[in-house]
Amino acid sequence: MIQLIRGFKDILPGEVELWQHIEKTAAGLFEQFGFQEIRLPIMEHTELFARSIGQDTDIVEKEMYTFPDRKGALVTLRPEATASVVRSYIQHKMYATDPVQKLYTIGPMFRRERPQKGRYRQFYQINAEVFGIDSPLIDAQLIFMLSALFTRLSILDTSVHINSLGCPACRPDFKKALSLFLADVKEKLCPDCIRRHGQNPLRVLDCKVPSCRESIVGAPSLGDFLCDHCRRHFATVTRSLEGLDVPFVIDGKLVRGLDYYSRTTFEVRTEALGAQNAVAGGGRYDGLVKALGGPDIPGIGFAIGFDRLTEVTGLKGKDFVKKPDVFVAALGEKSMALALEWVCALGLEGLVVEMGAGEKSLKSQMKRADRLGARHVLIVGEKELAEKTAILRNMATKVQSALPMDHIVKNVIENINSAHP
Ligand code: AMP
Repeated sequence: MIQLIRGFKDILPGEVELWQHIEKTAAGLFEQFGFQEIRLPIMEHTELFARSIGQDTDIVEKEMYTFPDRKGALVTLRPEATASVVRSYIQHKMYATDPVQKLYTIGPMFRRERPQKGRYRQFYQINAEVFGIDSPLIDAQLIFMLSALFTRLSILDTSVHINSLGCPACRPDFKKALSLFLADVKEKLCPDCIRRHGQNPLRVLDCKVPSCRESIVGAPSLGDFLCDHCRRHFATVTRSLEGLDVPFVIDGKLVRGLDYYSRTTFEVRTEALGAQNAVAGGGRYDGLVKALGGPDIPGIGFAIGFDRLTEVTGLKGKDFVKKPDVFVAALGEKSMALALEWVCALGLEGLVVEMGAGEKSLKSQMKRADRLGARHVLIVGEKELAEKTAILRNMATKVQSALPMDHIVKNVIENINSAHP
């Protein structure tokens, strides 16, 4: 039997309702804060990711699904969404009418990482991005919105970690100091970090290898190197978060795995997930729009790990599956033809409907209605045909009423509404 690809997964009926609920909650909240949805392709030119995420990042170096298309051009299944949102913002000159754009998008991403619990090769992200606002107040608002979403989804034991990565004016000094520090502990670093030390020393701060983590304990802190502008920006973000009652931890070693971030960066973690403890991450990418060929417009955004949300939400296990309002049980060819008409008409009226699936007896249809959690069963057999009625059974109270077949749809709806006003 052909099985799915390792690291990929099916989201089955029964699970998918939770995904739908999270999707609706996120979209509803983001729209309240002025965001509009954008839908993007899952494949882009490889160059887009190489130029935005950064050549010597894990994602670009080892994890992308990249292949030549039939004419030889290199294409990549997107490993993240921000690069595509920025590409689209530039390509469609969204800034021409108003540089300020607030966009969200939900969909699959692809990274060829080693699969484990909470880490997949196709996973889903919920992204929100804001263009054209330099003010630190938007940084705070975004983090507030993210926390509000976690609260709405009953995800309680999360912590927001935040840092400033500085800007092109102050980061080079920090890089220099870090590089000097790393030179002293070089022999204790993993081979990847020895290479990173030469190419992009900030990456070493992100390494998960325990010996590297130990070696960088005394490393210089970015916070001590910020220029006045970055310092003031960060102070306003943290002060605003305090004002909004969003708890956070300042984490001087938070650099995140993508190169395009500048100034505010943040990550939301939860203890509930074990090793893969990040549920969301984001930050400012003020130079990215320009670097990808657009005007010099700042940006900031975040990505939430959708799969991980479904694993930690307190709503997990809640039954979101829609129960039939009316199950039509019919016996005999004539009655079954009527059942079909009624089910279709009741469905059009907005009710959740179901009918017998070819069972031979009324009893087995009632059993199935019960198993599906139907609230009412509308029964029609020989006797009802002769009497031009149908029996509506309320499955909770067991009360049965004979309803005239004339205007049956109206009669059923009135009966249901009077039972549940
Ligand atoms: P990143 O784009 O790396 O900043 O990731 C943002 C969020 O996406 C992370 O905090 C995770 O929750 C989630 N995520 C990243 N990679 C994976 C993966 N391979 N499987 C599942 N979730 C992931």
